[in-house]
Amino acid sequence: MSSTDGPTLTRAVLAWRQAIGSSSVSTEAEILKAAGTATFATRRQVLAILRPADRAQVQECVRIANQFRVPIYPISTGKNWGYGSRAPVDDGVLLDLGRLNRILDFDETLAYVTVEPGVTQKQLYEFLQARGSRLWMDATGASPECSIIGNTLERGFGHTPMGDHCNCVCGLEVVLSSGEILETGLARFPGAAAAPLNRWGVGPSLDGLFSQSNFGIVTRMSVWLMPAPEYFQAYYFQCNDADGVAGIIDALRPLRLDGTIRSTAHIGNDYKVLSSVRQYPWKEMNGKTPLDPTVKNDICRDLRIASWSGSGGLYGTRAQVRVARTRLRSALGGKVSRLVFVDDRRLRLMRRFATPFSLLTGWDVNRTIGLMLPLHGLLKGIPTEAPLASTYWRKKSPAPEDPDPDRDGCGLIWCSPVLPIAGTPAREVACLIHDVVLSHGFEPMMSFSLVSDRAIVCVATIGYDREVAGEDERAFECHRTLTRRLIDRGYPPYRLNVRSMNDLEDHTTYLAVLRSLKSALDPKGILAPGRYEPGSPADGVTDRPATLAG
Ligand SMILES: Cc1cc2nc3c(=O)[nH]c(=O)nc-3n(C[C@H](O)[C@H](O)[C@H](O)COP(=O)(O)OP(=O)(O)OC[C@H]3O[C@@H](n4cnc5c(N)ncnc54)[C@H](O)[C@@H]3O)c2cc1C
Repeated sequence: MSSTDGPTLTRAVLAWRQAIGSSSVSTEAEILKAAGTATFATRRQVLAILRPADRAQVQECVRIANQFRVPIYPISTGKNWGYGSRAPVDDGVLLDLGRLNRILDFDETLAYVTVEPGVTQKQLYEFLQARGSRLWMDATGASPECSIIGNTLERGFGHTPMGDHCNCVCGLEVVLSSGEILETGLARFPGAAAAPLNRWGVGPSLDGLFSQSNFGIVTRMSVWLMPAPEYFQAYYFQCNDADGVAGIIDALRPLRLDGTIRSTAHIGNDYKVLSSVRQYPWKEMNGKTPLDPTVKNDICRDLRIASWSGSGGLYGTRAQVRVARTRLRSALGGKVSRLVFVDDRRLRLMRRFATPFSLLTGWDVNRTIGLMLPLHGLLKGIPTEAPLASTYWRKKSPAPEDPDPDRDGCGLIWCSPVLPIAGTPAREVACLIHDVVLSHGFEPMMSFSLVSDRAIVCVATIGYDREVAGEDERAFECHRTLTRRLIDRGYPPYRLNVRSMNDLEDHTTYLAVLRSLKSALDPKGILAPGRYEPGSPADGVTDRPATLAG
C-alpha cells in the first residue's frame, strides 16, 4: 500500500525539507548506510532520515508521509542493539525522535516524571541528581544513552522494583498516522489531575496498543519512579553445580510471589559472566571457535566464575531488609555455594581495603569490585556503559573508549523466551539453548531474569564477529532454529528482532484483529510497516530497492 518508488520519495523528501528544514533531513548514502547497520545482517534500506524538533513537526512529517504514501519508521534513540538497532523492518524513512528530549513534568511527592522520546537514561538520572531528588529511576544494562520511551515500547526491563517498564508508565501521547493526537488513560481529559498516575482511565485501555506495534508514534509518556528506600542491600550468589539453576529458581519463586523479593533477580551462566569480564580467549583457543568447555572451565576457575551467578536487590526499611535477608539465606541454603550481601557501606570498605586484601590473599579484589560496581549501581537505577563491552566478545581488538557495536561489526542477536518461574522449564530452556547455540559454533551465554512475580525472561546471546565471513548467516540460522524450537516447547519470545517479526506463525483470530486495528489506525500502512506484524513480507523475502530519483 505504501510506496517507495524514486520520484515519489524525491517529492516527499522535498516536502519534508520545506516542513522541518533541510538540515533536519538526511539523504547522504553513507549516513543512511550507517543507520541501516545493526549487530546482524539486515537487508532493508533506510531511504532518508528525518529529525523533527517537536511534536508539531512530527505531525507534519506524518502528514507528508501519508500524502505521498511513503513509510516512516519512528525510533527514539535507535540503540535497539541485538534486536535491530536503528534498522527498519521494511524499506522506509527513519523518523528519529532524538531531538524531542524534554522532561516535561516532574513531581517529587507523587514520584513520577513525564518525558519525550529523546530523553535518555543518563539525562533522567542527571536530572534527578541535580535536584537532589529522593527518587530512583529504573535503568537497563544497555547504554546510558538509551531512551526511556524506546525501551519501554519494546517492553524492556531493568533491575529495580520498577524494572518491568511497561508496568510503570501511563498517560501516553500518540501521534496517529492521520497526524491527529491521541492521549491515553485519563490524559484525554484536559487538566485531569491523575493523568500521570492512573493507568487505566475510564473505558477501554489503549496504552498496550502502542508497545511492540506500529499503530502510532509516542511523543510523551509518564514514568513512575520509586522513593529511595530507607535501606538497600544487594545480594550476590554463586552456584557451582551446572544443573543448579532449576533449584535456585524454585527456591526464589515463593520469595518473589510473597513480596520478599520485589525486584528482578538475574541469574547468568558461566559463559555469560565470562563474556562480561573479558574477550574471547583467542590465544588459549589457538584462534579456533567455539570455546572448548575444558578451556572455559580452566579460565572460569582462575577468574572465580561459577557455573551460575545471581544478583538482585533488597529494598525497604532496615528491619524489612533484615527479614528478607534471613528468608533469602534460608531459601538458598544448600543450593548455592556462596551468598553475600553488600550495602553501600560495605562496598566502600571493600574498596578501601581491596589492595592490602589482594596482597594478602592473592585474590584480585579490585577486579571483583570493578565488576560489582556497575551492577550494584544498576540495582539502584544508575545507568552504566559497562555491559556494552561484552558485545566485543568475539572481536580481536578490545572495545574502544566509545563503544558502538553497530559501527564496529560486533555480532549480537538475542533470543528471549518467556517461561514460568519454575525449575523444570528453566532447566529445559537452558539445555535447549546450550545444545542449539553450541552446535552452531557459538558460546551458549544465557541469563534468567525474574521480571515479574510469576514469569522469567531468559535472554540467550548469540555473540560473534560480523567481519568473519559466513558468521552473519550462521548466527541467524542459529537464532531461527533456537526460536522455533523454543516456541515448539512452549516458550515463545517476549520480544523480536526486525528480521523475525514476520516469521512467527500466528493464531488467525489474533492476526485478524491486528489487521483490523492496523487498517483502522493506519489505513495507508505508512507507520513502521512490518513491525510486529506477523505474516507481512519478511525481511529478505521480497526485494524492493528504492533510491531517490536523480
Ligand atoms: C550490552 C547490552 C545490554 C542491554 N541490556 C538491556 C536491558 O537490560 N534491558 C533491555 O530491555 N534491553 C537491553 N538491551 C537491548 C537494547 O539496547 C535496549 O532495550 C535499548 O533501550 C533499546 O534501544 P533504545 O532505547 O534506543 O530504543 P529505540 O531503538 O529508539 O526503540 C526501540 C524500538 O521501539 C520503536 N519505537 C521507539 N520509539 C518509538 C516511538 N516514540 N513511537 C513509536 N515507536 C517507537 C521502534 O520500532 C524502535 O525500533 C541491551 C543491549 C546491549 C547491547
